[in-house]
Amino acid sequence: MRRSLDIAVVGYGTAGQAAARLLQRQGHRLALFERAPQPRPVGAGLLLQPTGLAVLAELGLLGAAQRCGEPIAQLLGETTAGRKVIDMRYADLAADCAGLGIQRGALFELLREASVERQLRSGVAIADVDAQRGELRDEGGSRHGPYDLVLVCGGAASALRSAALTRRDRPYAWGALWCLCDDPQRRFAGQLLQRYQGPRRMAGLLPVGVLPGQGETARKIGFFWSLPTCEIAATRQRGAAAWRDEVARHWPEVRPVLDSIRDVGQLMPAHYRDAVLRRFCAGRVAWLGDAAHAMSPQLGQGANMALLDASALARALAVHDELAPALAAYDRERRRHVGIYQLISRWLTPLFQSEQDWAGRLRDACFGPLAQLPLLRDETLKVLAGVKCGLFGRLPLDDAAALRALSAQIESR
Ligand SMILES: Cc1cc2nc3c(=O)[nH]c(=O)nc-3n(C[C@H](O)[C@H](O)[C@H](O)COP(=O)(O)OP(=O)(O)OC[C@H]3O[C@@H](n4cnc5c(N)ncnc54)[C@H](O)[C@@H]3O)c2cc1C
Repeated sequence: MRRSLDIAVVGYGTAGQAAARLLQRQGHRLALFERAPQPRPVGAGLLLQPTGLAVLAELGLLGAAQRCGEPIAQLLGETTAGRKVIDMRYADLAADCAGLGIQRGALFELLREASVERQLRSGVAIADVDAQRGELRDEGGSRHGPYDLVLVCGGAASALRSAALTRRDRPYAWGALWCLCDDPQRRFAGQLLQRYQGPRRMAGLLPVGVLPGQGETARKIGFFWSLPTCEIAATRQRGAAAWRDEVARHWPEVRPVLDSIRDVGQLMPAHYRDAVLRRFCAGRVAWLGDAAHAMSPQLGQGANMALLDASALARALAVHDELAPALAAYDRERRRHVGIYQLISRWLTPLFQSEQDWAGRLRDACFGPLAQLPLLRDETLKVLAGVKCGLFGRLPLDDAAALRALSAQIESR
């Protein structure tokens, strides 16, 4: 850009935080709007992929993330009868490849920056965006702007998607309850574990480490329990003890860590959507993160995509002189990557979360043998690591040195 821009960022989640940090660093002037009265993380824990870790490296936050998080070398999914359905290791893609389990709260704290937050207006929900003029109207009727550029980072349920650009926007019928459990003894280190019974029952467990500054004994695991969204309220109403018993019947080995869930308030509901935009920009507006491409969390990519969006947008603004070609470059780069993930997650989700029992049987019978075929194995590993791009392409990762440091850390544990 030939000049520094006035940029509004709507939503202070992963995409908004990362974009604000990168753009402030480039000298742009920011105004941030967050609906929540107090900015805070929502949810339990998540898996950062090599893609998201490369963006954290770009932000100078990789070391801090590694100190909080838990390196993940393998994804292992089995049925309750002991049949292996998924067994993938990052090292089979590249020796220097690994994931990092991290608490939502840790990622949120790492992405905070005091100088950015001085521009943050909390408790202000934006109701309307004028894409041509770059103006905002909040729910109280006040107008903000005009801005040179508006970044919509309002998450999966964002009401600020352009109707003209929206090809699809629907909620999934299945969601989850998720929580953070104590795991001071690190019983489940190094792996993302899943346990299935058909497509109707699925639980997942991810070591996610500590919050910044906490000691080893505060280590947590993120726990995920799949269920139809219409059952979420009733399940919570039955209370934490009933939930623990139900989960332990499905997966007895996790009973010891579930004991730290004493109150139903620790069980957070998760709803997800499938939203597809024809373009991620229009006029003076760009959509980032789930606001641009909400999908089911089956592939563990959403937060990583949000980080990649922020990085791609900042790069596009840095190399183009004018706004329109910069936004077009951002749109091209990100849609090329995101499209295949939206497609795969839409097809995959009913195999893991639905009432279609045949889909579960198909999954259990086919996934293991198919993953032995060399071409399919490589492609699924690329999907896992977040680097698949188009049908057979692969996203380049710049920060190989930083990723090697992460895999060395795994080996040393
Ligand atoms: C159960 C579950 C597990 C997941 N696991 C993983 C995983 O392992 N790995 C992974 O990468 N991803 C995972 N995800 C996906 C990931 O959580 C999302 O993709 C990511 O949080 C998207 O970030 P975002 O910044 O786009 O949106 P959010 O983090 O949702 O932030 C949006 C922000 O915008 C604010 N906002 C919304 N509307 C307005 C408005 N009108 N005005 C002002 N503010 C507004 C909200 O209050 C919020 O703070 C998971 C999701 C779920 C539900």
